[in-house]
Amino acid sequence: MTQLYRPLNILGFAYREIKQSLTDLEKMFVLLDIKPEVNDRESAKTVENIQGRVAFENVSFRYDSDRPILSNINFEIPTGKTLAVVGPTGAGKSTLSRILFRFYDIDKGSVKVDGIDIRNLSQKSLRKAIGIVPQDTVLFNDSILYNIKYARPEASVDDIYRAAKDAQIHDFILSLPKGYETIVGERGLKLSGGEKQRVAIARALLKDPSILILDEATSALDSATERGIQDALDRASAGRTTLVIAHRLSTIIKADNIIVIENGEIAEQGTHQALLNQGGLYAQLWKQQKKMPAASET
Ligand code: ATP
Repeated sequence: MTQLYRPLNILGFAYREIKQSLTDLEKMFVLLDIKPEVNDRESAKTVENIQGRVAFENVSFRYDSDRPILSNINFEIPTGKTLAVVGPTGAGKSTLSRILFRFYDIDKGSVKVDGIDIRNLSQKSLRKAIGIVPQDTVLFNDSILYNIKYARPEASVDDIYRAAKDAQIHDFILSLPKGYETIVGERGLKLSGGEKQRVAIARALLKDPSILILDEATSALDSATERGIQDALDRASAGRTTLVIAHRLSTIIKADNIIVIENGEIAEQGTHQALLNQGGLYAQLWKQQKKMPAASET
C-alpha cells in the first residue's frame, strides 16, 4: 500500500497542478479576450497612434438571435472626455464595453475609433489602444510585479513603480515582506477587492492606452477604500477617452456626459445636473441611491 501511495500522491499533485494551469489558461483567455469568432479583415489597418475618439452610430446588437440587447445606440466620446453609462441591471451597459473592445461584432450600425470603423482596424491596434479595469480582476498565481508588468512586458521597473504609485498600491506592496516579489492569486496572498482593483488600475496605467474602460465593481467597498480607488481612477482617466460603466452614481457626477440605458436603448443623456433637472429615470435612480446606506456615499 505504501508503495502505491507515493505515485498516487504525485499523481494527485500533478493533477492539481494541471487543473490549476488550466484555470490559469482560461483566465488568460478572459484577460486577453481571445474570441476566435471575431477575425481581422484582410484589409484591416494597423494604426499606431490612435487618439481615442469613440463613436457608436445606430448600433444594434444581440448575443442570441432571439433576444435583442442593444437597439439603435448613438453617442460620441470626444478625445480625452469621459462618458458614463448607467442603467438598471441587465440593461446592456457592460455589453457596450465588450463591443468597443470588439469582443463581439455588431448586427447593425458601426463603432468608430478616430473615425475608423473598428472592423477595419486590426484587432491588435484596437486592443493596444484600450485599457480595461474590469469588474472583477483576475490575478495570475505569480508575483505582484508580474501581475502589473503583464500589461506591458517591456516596461522598466521605474515605469511599473510609477503606475503602482498612481494606482495608490505602491506603499502597500512595499509593506509586504517580499514586496513586489510577493506571490498573489489563488495560491498566494489573497488580495482584497480594493487591492485587486488597484492592481488592475496599475496594469491599465502601465499600458498607457488612449481609451480607458472602467467597469465599476458592483460590490460595495468601504468608503475610505472607495475614495482611494476613485482618486486613482480619476488620475487614470485624466486626458484619456474614458467609458465608465457605473453602478454607483456618486462616482460619475463629474463625467462630461452620461447616458442612461434602459431595455437596450438610450433613455436619457446629458450631464449629471441636466439629468437631475430633467426629473426622469436618472433622477429616480439618483434618489434611490441616496436613500440606500451605500458604502460609497459620503
Ligand atoms: P449589470 O449592471 O448587472 O452589470 P449590464 O447592464 O452591464 O448589467 P450586460 O452585462 O451588458 O448588462 O448584459 C445585458 C444583457 O445581455 C443581460 O440580459 C445578460 O443576460 C445578457 N448577456 C450578457 N452576456 C451574455 C452572453 N455572453 N450571452 C448571452 N447573453 C448575454
